[in-house]
Amino acid sequence: NNSKKAQIGVTGLAVMGANLARNLARNGYTVALHNRSVEKTDALLEAHGSEGDFIRTETLQELVDSLESPRRILVMVKAGQPVDAVIEQLAPLLDKDDIIIDGGNSHFPDTIRRERELAEKGLHFVGVGVSGGEEGALWGPAIMPGGSAKSYESVGPMLEKIAAKAPQDGAPCCAWLSTDGAGHFVKMVHNGIEYADMQVIGEAYDILRSVAGIKPADQAKIFRSWNETELNSYLIEITSQVLEQVDAQTGKPLVDVIVDQAGQKGTGGWTVQAAIDLGTPITGIAESVFARGLSSSNTAAREEAQKELPAGLIATTGVANADEEFVEDVRKALFASKLVAYAQGLDMLQEAADQYGWTYKLDVVASLWRAGCIIRAELLGEIMEAYSGENIPSNMLLAPGFKSLMEDLLPSWRRVVAKATALGIPVPVFSSSLSYYDGLRRDRLPAALIQGQRDYFGAHTYKRIDAEGDYHVMWTEDD
Ligand code: NAP
Repeated sequence: NNSKKAQIGVTGLAVMGANLARNLARNGYTVALHNRSVEKTDALLEAHGSEGDFIRTETLQELVDSLESPRRILVMVKAGQPVDAVIEQLAPLLDKDDIIIDGGNSHFPDTIRRERELAEKGLHFVGVGVSGGEEGALWGPAIMPGGSAKSYESVGPMLEKIAAKAPQDGAPCCAWLSTDGAGHFVKMVHNGIEYADMQVIGEAYDILRSVAGIKPADQAKIFRSWNETELNSYLIEITSQVLEQVDAQTGKPLVDVIVDQAGQKGTGGWTVQAAIDLGTPITGIAESVFARGLSSSNTAAREEAQKELPAGLIATTGVANADEEFVEDVRKALFASKLVAYAQGLDMLQEAADQYGWTYKLDVVASLWRAGCIIRAELLGEIMEAYSGENIPSNMLLAPGFKSLMEDLLPSWRRVVAKATALGIPVPVFSSSLSYYDGLRRDRLPAALIQGQRDYFGAHTYKRIDAEGDYHVMWTEDD
């Protein structure tokens, strides 16, 4: 029929798809709606149909027929096999130059494969990382698009319109990053940083509680005041709200009623796997993934260890509950560890760009994370600054602003790690990040000894500090 056509279609109307569809409609686009089971489509239309211009469709053929050409179809189904299933059904119905956009949390190698397969059919496939959860999807998420530059000409303006806007300059938190899987890769690393960011907050909380005896309600106030400092961020803000929450049933702080086993949906683990493939040391991010694993994977061992393993604590001077200096030390340790997580994540992004041939710039990546996403933070404005212009630092910590900042944070960071360690409080990200920092700056690393060992048992050779070439020692007679 010749009724009005939609500018974009959305298939997959669970919470993310439904909210992105509403966001698109609120921004003036006509949106065709489709879901495998039509109940979700009708539920969305019933609750929010009056918010904008929607077209109801029941089948993928109807969805395709309802769209202006070249078609744009946003796929928001469950990540993994369902995305392939939808593509397989959709592709035969499409015409050359139509665009399939995958806005789910797809694994970047899948995105690279799907883009290649669809390009062979003359179709565009745009893998888009979307962060911000339900609220972000509805009111403005951070959007990290990959795919061809050509397809961005068609979908970019729409995505930029519905994206969050950075508080610093009002720019949309959406920009074309690079080809094929670049968008999903950047989103994956975002999630890795998110894991570390959450873990360092958790470590700060544990230390304040276990060393200084500060109760959750009082910590809520501390985190709120920290949110007025350079730590200002979404995660610090919600932490204060979680900490002040009281369990209605027991009257206890909610955090004390919650089982201390952290879940994960996999993107943190993907980040670590990808970093291992790239050979980039994202130690803080890895420790944060493993810290969740330690909390939840072998709970029988945890129970037994609580009873059986000695603590071997070392005496340290006490800390009074209201010791402002100590609280400030913890704040600085948190901030330093957080900076390391960003430095490591960006280092990984740079290495990936080199190895995968992606052209995104790190100041642009940082700019996209300034609003809408879970790791949004004031700090990202400064990171963006550090990477803009001619002199790109070889590591974020070496950018002039961050160099002097680290110098200021360092004594507190060392004191807190030392204290927590003496008292048996695990601080995997605080401590591994400090080791990373020290590993970077140390003039001689024990890697020299490791090279000697490798040469001993495997004749792997070593290099000398005073001459070119590869050397090997005849360690034993049969060498
Ligand atoms: P979800 O629970 O991951 O997926 C449910 C949707 O997928 C439903 O619409 C379902 O259709 C559809 N689906 C599942 N298998 C299908 C198949 N084989 N064929 C066709 N449709 C199929 O939904 P979500 O939480 O809204 O997330 C969507 C995507 O966004 C995921 O990749 C997720 O990881 C990502 N994401 C989520 C969040 C979040 O906060 N939830 C944040 C960022 C990104 P039926 O209704 O017919 O079952």
